[in-house]
Amino acid sequence: MGPALSADDEPRDRSGRPYRGLSLWFDQLAERGPDGAPDDLAPRPALDAPTEADVVVVGAGLTGLWTAYHLTEADPSLDVVVVDQEVAGYGASGRNGGWCSALFPVSADALARRHGEPAARALRAAMRDTVVEVAATAAAEGIDCDVAVGGTVVLARTRPQLERARAHAASARAWGDEVELLDARAARAVLDATDVLGATFDPDCLRVQPARLVRGLARAVEARGVRLHERTAVTRVGPRRVLANGHVVRARHVVLATEAWGAHVPVRPRTPLTGRGVAPVYSLMVATEPLPAAVWDAIGLRRAETFSDFRHLLVYGQRTADDRLAFGGRGAPYHWRSAVRPALDRDDAVHAHLVEAMHELLPQVRGAAVTHRWGGPLGVRRDWSPTVGLDPSGLAWAGGYVGDGVATTHLAGRTLADLLTGRDTALTRLPWVGHRGPRWEPEPLRWLGIRAGLAATVLADAEERATRRQSVVAHLMAPLLGH
Ligand SMILES: Cc1cc2nc3c(=O)[nH]c(=O)nc-3n(C[C@H](O)[C@H](O)[C@H](O)COP(=O)(O)OP(=O)(O)OC[C@H]3O[C@@H](n4cnc5c(N)ncnc54)[C@H](O)[C@@H]3O)c2cc1C
Repeated sequence: MGPALSADDEPRDRSGRPYRGLSLWFDQLAERGPDGAPDDLAPRPALDAPTEADVVVVGAGLTGLWTAYHLTEADPSLDVVVVDQEVAGYGASGRNGGWCSALFPVSADALARRHGEPAARALRAAMRDTVVEVAATAAAEGIDCDVAVGGTVVLARTRPQLERARAHAASARAWGDEVELLDARAARAVLDATDVLGATFDPDCLRVQPARLVRGLARAVEARGVRLHERTAVTRVGPRRVLANGHVVRARHVVLATEAWGAHVPVRPRTPLTGRGVAPVYSLMVATEPLPAAVWDAIGLRRAETFSDFRHLLVYGQRTADDRLAFGGRGAPYHWRSAVRPALDRDDAVHAHLVEAMHELLPQVRGAAVTHRWGGPLGVRRDWSPTVGLDPSGLAWAGGYVGDGVATTHLAGRTLADLLTGRDTALTRLPWVGHRGPRWEPEPLRWLGIRAGLAATVLADAEERATRRQSVVAHLMAPLLGH
């Protein structure tokens, strides 16, 4: 992508922030992009005239790009335009924890209650297949995104957590997931954290470098003839047309792939992921400097397993390809009226809590410098359920992945390709297709409700530490969180 830029002409977003500062992953692109050469993040040309296409996709994250990829796979003659207000991967897709997992935010039990057992089983199988497909597509397209097929280990560090680990392993196996229960010794052999009593191990997870994945995918779709316009903000979406950079783009189908930003995109007719259909919730991350081999010998993660534990307020991490520890978690507050803006990507208090949580879990990294702090918004629907669909006006959508989007976007892209090319397939019959569900409450109820939910989650962990029993608060909240 051209020679390296000096600090002065470094590409920046509309708020003036260098793209490079978006995440550790974007920063690493200066050394090596998805094809091995540095990626200078220079934006592709913005849309500068009205145009027509078969499909226009709004948002060049994984949802938008996988959709473009699979559309051109299904029908190479399709004319597809993808636009993004910034650059490919600017959203959660270029900032996430790099777990490409078979996790889906709604449990199989809850799916079975809502849609029946066969539908729940089909979705679990589709998610497991999707993890394999992502690795295969990345390899086939020559996208070097540091894939490690290590699985994921989720530690149990208190008695109530161990009970949940047992229950999770039993339920997962009943739904066809090959989740194993590890005793304390076996768990510590994978990840030698503090207070380990056991763990679950799920093989269906890849470690990836997310910016290399999404930026590589952008190149792959361009190579297939997709027109990708960056720095092109969409300010209105109607049936079969969008207003992008002030220019009308007409298309048979419009795909909205804006996840958390959907709360602010003016769309008619509305979709399950616009306006009050989706609430942006921030997840934040930190990363250490590269750690010496002796520290990794003490920690483990020899196969680059991704990791978490069974606390209620989610934390997650990975060993990066250059031997850093990247560690993230929820805990950032929801912002009034679903605000999404660059200033919210950082929160000193939440980042400090994350560093504390990382040190408490893995004291081996206490001496290491924390070199990167970042975050981003992800989309959460009122019933915690992701959705993908197409309405009769030609408007399509996918999102609401609640932080499980790296693999799910691939499933969404394949499903949208089938829907838009008019095919009735096993994918278009999965239970999340066409799912609408309830919308979030208007403010101030939404603000109060989501903030109360976060406070209750923190309380649930404190309650378990104090009582050493399953949290009553968490039990009461479970139906609201897709369980
Ligand atoms: C810190 C963090 C950690 C995470 N960790 C994981 C993980 O480890 N595993 C996992 O599975 N998931 C994880 N997720 C979630 C995952 O990253 C997302 O679910 C996924 O990337 C969503 O992809 P997307 O393409 O739908 O949305 P995004 O990647 O957010 O893309 C939306 C795009 O739309 C563009 N856009 C918005 N509005 C407009 C407009 N008006 N006009 C034009 N363009 C517009 C944005 O610029 C953006 O590029 C994490 C998320 C975060 C924030």
